[in-house]
Amino acid sequence: MADQEKQVKVLVLGAGPAGLSAALYAARAELEPTVLTGMQLGGQAALTHMIENYPGFPEGIGGVQLGEQFQKQAERFGAKVEFDMAHEVDFSQRPYKVTTDSGVYKTEALIITTGANPLHLEVPGEEELTGRGVSYCATCDGWFFKDKKVAIVGGGDSAFEEALFITRYASSVTLIHRRDEFRASVLLQKRAKEHPKMNFILDTVVTEVVGKEKLEALKLKNVKTGAETDFATDGLFIFIGHAPNSQMFKGKLEMTELGYLKVNDKMETSLPGVFAAGEIADPTFRQVVTSAGMGAAAAIQATRYLEAEEAAHSPA
Ligand code: NAP
Repeated sequence: MADQEKQVKVLVLGAGPAGLSAALYAARAELEPTVLTGMQLGGQAALTHMIENYPGFPEGIGGVQLGEQFQKQAERFGAKVEFDMAHEVDFSQRPYKVTTDSGVYKTEALIITTGANPLHLEVPGEEELTGRGVSYCATCDGWFFKDKKVAIVGGGDSAFEEALFITRYASSVTLIHRRDEFRASVLLQKRAKEHPKMNFILDTVVTEVVGKEKLEALKLKNVKTGAETDFATDGLFIFIGHAPNSQMFKGKLEMTELGYLKVNDKMETSLPGVFAAGEIADPTFRQVVTSAGMGAAAAIQATRYLEAEEAAHSPA
């Protein structure tokens, strides 16, 4: 029902590692938090095939499975996870109001963990051929490229990690990077360079994505020589970074020029009772473990905030 109103003590926006860790801590503080999943349970981590650097899983764990474990653990202590999407926040009075697909939530404290979305190349043909050969998620779409030729754009950890994942399916994986040096960790670079299916095209950008019904080729340009070439491929995976999901908070919370929410060392935003954690507030580390840590810290601080509020309003 569109006008249904629900009152909660703690509302968490987003159900990635930050949101579900915040929910776990808030639930254990008996605040009965509600988590709104937004578009996707598990956040970006759920798009990662295998997470090998989250402590406690020496053999690694699938992104989806880790998200499910986070959820199960938070629910065990009373967190409610709702498949609902927030559209608007009203911070003009307490409790704060959040309008969602299902109605309106009124909350004493808000923890924002809405994460970030993959950046696009913004070249002709990219949008039209998304889902028809162009993808931003190897875990979701890698399987479609069994014995096919795949190109990857990017030079960071994501590009390398996902390129290596796609080698399971594709006949060849060509990583196209705009420079001749990579940001990716030395270990990932070593694995990729030693992989027999991997090829590299350096100092090169994609200027156009070409195809009628489906992707057929890329137009490439060497940024040093200016030489233009065509590169036939069945798949194109783009991993060139992310943009924070903070549009809803524009003009309402302080943010950086790039749109990341500003928080202090207690995960407090510019408004009392509003906290942020994970990639929405972290352009630097962006790891599952750091996001989970930020989520826990945000919930601890939200608990302290609510306790102080209660003490201030209770009769002496
Ligand atoms: P990133 O580190 O920001 O790398 C983005 C890459 O895309 C860079 O190589 C960049 O080139 C390139 N790029 C950016 N805009 C481009 C454009 N318009 N056209 C062509 N290339 C473009 O992003 P990420 O790889 O998604 O990683 C984000 C963060 O998550 C990092 O901190 C990373 O360490 C972390 N991460 C960690 C793991 C792991 O530890 N296993 C896995 C995934 C991600 P330049 O190098 O020239 O700028």
